[in-house]
Amino acid sequence: MSPGTLGGAPLEPCKGFRFVVSRRWKKGAVSFSKLIESWPVVRQLREGDPLGLGRAVRSERSRTLTPRIDEADEVAHSICPYCAVGCAQLVYVKDGEIVQIEGDPASPVSRGRLCPKGAASQNYVQSPLREYKVKYRRPYGNAWEELSLDEAMDMIADRVVHTREENWQQENGQGDPARRTLAIGNLGGATLDNEENYLIKKLMTALGVVQVENQARI
Ligand code: SF4
Repeated sequence: MSPGTLGGAPLEPCKGFRFVVSRRWKKGAVSFSKLIESWPVVRQLREGDPLGLGRAVRSERSRTLTPRIDEADEVAHSICPYCAVGCAQLVYVKDGEIVQIEGDPASPVSRGRLCPKGAASQNYVQSPLREYKVKYRRPYGNAWEELSLDEAMDMIADRVVHTREENWQQENGQGDPARRTLAIGNLGGATLDNEENYLIKKLMTALGVVQVENQARI
């Protein structure tokens, strides 16, 4: 049967239409099968990863990710500065800057682990909030002033010497030897390491200061 004419132009049989429909259908079928294949459960079964712990659970993005330590020039061995546990760290450096700090698996103390403080210790070095100047607030003052380290150290030494002299106890209330001052105390922080704590305790004992405590013990 002749397909006839439209506006004077002869109509061709609908081969083209059938072709388009078939191509669309094929395209639809292909993208549907791709969709099914991209389903994680199917990928787990096809790729022999039934527990979903390997390649099957990777996305296009995670497939192209690389570790931050990939471009490091060198790795320095260090110890976390925060507390006396002494977890070992691997410090990755690129162009003289720390790019990542991770636990050292070779350490018998921490076996590659770091707590959140240790894992964030890169900020201890590079945080924009890090202070490089001594801050001082005068008695009754309401603002911080910056002091040079020399000036701050002189002020501390003068106050320690003066307070110790003013409050020295050669004997206690029962007449027993005391040789101490109760007017000075020392509170250490968790960022002090063993060596610093040892030196501080030695200094305090030499000064007759008996009230020595550490924040990590309170
Ligand atoms: S602060 Fe955390 S990572 Fe650092 S030494 Fe202590 S436990 Fe280890």
